[in-house]
Amino acid sequence: MRGIAILGSTGSIGKQAIEVISLHPDRFFVTALTAHRNAALLFEQVRLFRPKMAALTGEEAQIPADLSFCQFYFGADALEKVAREAEGQDVLAAVVGVAGLKAVVAAREAGKRVLLANKETLVSGGEMVMNLCRTDENGPTLLPVDSEHSAIFQCLQGAGPNRYEKILLTASGGPFRTWDRERMRHATVPQALGHPTWNMGAKITVDSASMFNKALEIIEAKWLFDAAPSQIQVVVHPQSIIHSAVQFADGAVIAQMGNPDMKVPILYAMSYPERLFTGTRELDLFALGSLTFEAPDMEKFPSIRLAYEALAAGGAAACVLNAANEEAAGAFLQEKIPFGRIYDVVDGALQRWGHLPARNLADIEGADALAREAAWQLMQG
Ligand code: NDP
Ligand code: MG
Repeated sequence: MRGIAILGSTGSIGKQAIEVISLHPDRFFVTALTAHRNAALLFEQVRLFRPKMAALTGEEAQIPADLSFCQFYFGADALEKVAREAEGQDVLAAVVGVAGLKAVVAAREAGKRVLLANKETLVSGGEMVMNLCRTDENGPTLLPVDSEHSAIFQCLQGAGPNRYEKILLTASGGPFRTWDRERMRHATVPQALGHPTWNMGAKITVDSASMFNKALEIIEAKWLFDAAPSQIQVVVHPQSIIHSAVQFADGAVIAQMGNPDMKVPILYAMSYPERLFTGTRELDLFALGSLTFEAPDMEKFPSIRLAYEALAAGGAAACVLNAANEEAAGAFLQEKIPFGRIYDVVDGALQRWGHLPARNLADIEGADALAREAAWQLMQG
């Protein structure tokens, strides 16, 4: 039995994690659950899974009398407390945004294994987080949940002593893949939220439309697989069947395929190296008929270019990219800026603060705050 704390249990990833845990009650038990504001769903989940700890990070709420078996914590610091103190070995980081960074650090300091969906944490604090996540005698201490990175990780399982030469990072291309640039720059919120192949939380869905999601994933891949930026190639693959691939010295390319269903990478991270039943729909290649691939349009999606620029700049540049994007994507969702401005805001923030160091948590938090402030100045200007 593995005990697992779910940070962000009321979100898209959190709820699917709960689904797969429910399929295997003999293998996993829930040690802690957290939500930001959705107290009603958190209480329902606590009632069902009976963890000893829970947290509501965005506000306080009256705890129902029948939940007295569970200790509740409130406020932003509660996330770190749960990550550090929950019983069991595993912490699933499924909150959205850099809010997860300190909790991931706390989990590792307490010797927990981190199952990481929260890519913003690795984008912002890559070097510092990876230094805390070295593989130990029990295996990896950080397991990717993001579908592309889970795919790469799965492809590397058969590599033996061979290092890959190239990572082929697939991307659906999002809802604006076939739109022209001008039309896309004025897209509405409902249009940006209409993802063709994946059903996810609002922020990552906007990121998929702007391709900042792929930008974050390029940086995530750099840290998880120690890749040089030139070894990471984005391949647009609209069907989302190949979740990513790796190429070796002999020219062989190993890919991981399946219907798009996050339950597969979530459960693989939880049960690694074993594979367990997920209930996902079987891949029917005859029904699919064909898979297609195209190069990303870097003119239309400057996000991809900005990711490589941030990697070349090093230091806290990726943290600045992430923070400015969080603010700009949030402002777009509140209809405060047009879709196309997201790129200008991130670009502007990087130009202003793309040179800061990232030696420790204080540096990262400082760069994050400056980038958010610059983003708001740019959005108001
Ligand atoms: P959701 O928005 O659906 O869920 C986010 C979760 O985090 C909710 O439980 C939410 O609580 C909580 N939360 C929100 N803000 C904060 C905060 N400031 N501090 C603490 N908790 C917070 O997001 P997703 O599940 O879609 O995504 C989660 C992470 O996983 C993201 O980093 C995303 O990039 C990554 N990911 C998601 C995929 C997907 O398919 N959804 C695929 C690959 C990666 P509440 O419900 O109360 O608001
Ligand atoms: Mg992904």
